[in-house]
Amino acid sequence: MLCVMKVAVFSSKPYDERFLGAAAAEAGLDVEFFEAHLDVRSVPLARGHDAVCAFVNDDLSAPVLEQLDELGVKIVALRSAGFNHVDLEAARRRGLTVVRVPAYSPTSVAEHTVALILALNRKIYRAYNRVREANFALEGLLGFDLASRTVGVVGTGRIGLAVATIMHGFGCTVLGYDRFPNPEAAAAGLDYVNVDELMSRSDIITLHAPLTAETHHMVNADTIDAMKDGVMLINTSRGGLIDTAAVIAGLKSAKIGSLGLDVYEEEEDLFFDDLSNQVLQDDLFSRLLTFPNVLITGHQAFFTEDALEAIAATTVNNLVAYAAGETSGNEL
Ligand code: NAD
Repeated sequence: MLCVMKVAVFSSKPYDERFLGAAAAEAGLDVEFFEAHLDVRSVPLARGHDAVCAFVNDDLSAPVLEQLDELGVKIVALRSAGFNHVDLEAARRRGLTVVRVPAYSPTSVAEHTVALILALNRKIYRAYNRVREANFALEGLLGFDLASRTVGVVGTGRIGLAVATIMHGFGCTVLGYDRFPNPEAAAAGLDYVNVDELMSRSDIITLHAPLTAETHHMVNADTIDAMKDGVMLINTSRGGLIDTAAVIAGLKSAKIGSLGLDVYEEEEDLFFDDLSNQVLQDDLFSRLLTFPNVLITGHQAFFTEDALEAIAATTVNNLVAYAAGETSGNEL
């Protein structure tokens, strides 16, 4: 069905134009792409549009949502699963519909998580640079066999379970913690324990719970203290799950043996843009970059062709359903 809806896409990159542009054109959506992040300054760009399409670091706080409503925008379509950056109460007050892409490709994020685990353990990022400089020394590259180790998965939804399945395939013991245990966990080789047991028994802890008031800083000085010495900590979920200052202290004391991040608490001022000609102003992030046992990627775990196709298809379906007066099931 063709749909005459005007959509303003914020935080747009060439890959959004490619994938979302193609899906929108097929559905007949009238889409305008803006490189600008959505915030109180850029919100006037939404004038004349029925819908706004936003990404993870766009500002969807009450003042922005109020302005969107005043400009006549009816629906905010998130190109993400996470919605911790949206003031849903303010959206409800203003009668704005908010839709998201609850599941696009859990394997994209799970496989990136495992890539971080493997690269950190075997120091691939260090080995790559050394060999290019004809430095073939092995000192500092010592890893461990994953097969005999215990992996703790915090949040056993779609992504957590996909990680559990892969790590179980490596021969790891997989422990899980979730407020709502997943009935498919046994098939993924995952045993549920309470959060304290997971933290104290795991050689690798990987975070896949959403960012909520409850999960905010769930990795903090106290929980780090309860972890095994030399634990590997991985976060591909949301930066706010980790108290960065506490993790830096844990790295300095060697309590944390290695850290892999795809997300960071204050990432909205950093990620998705080329800042290589600027002086980074974030001192905590800059400190993280100095550790030889820290590997950071800039929120790219979702970034596969399969995921971008699925995000575009669901986003367009969400908008088309709204225009037809129907629900997509992806409303928040
Ligand atoms: P999901 O909803 O399928 O699973 C989340 C799980 O966390 C659920 O089982 C839920 O019960 C559990 N949970 C909720 N509160 C909890 C708590 N307090 N303690 C423990 N578990 C709790 O979501 P998903 O698709 O697996 O995605 C997980 C997270 O990954 C998302 O919230 C999102 O923030 C993040 N994500 C990151 C990227 C990336 O590119 N880095 C991409 C997609 C999603």
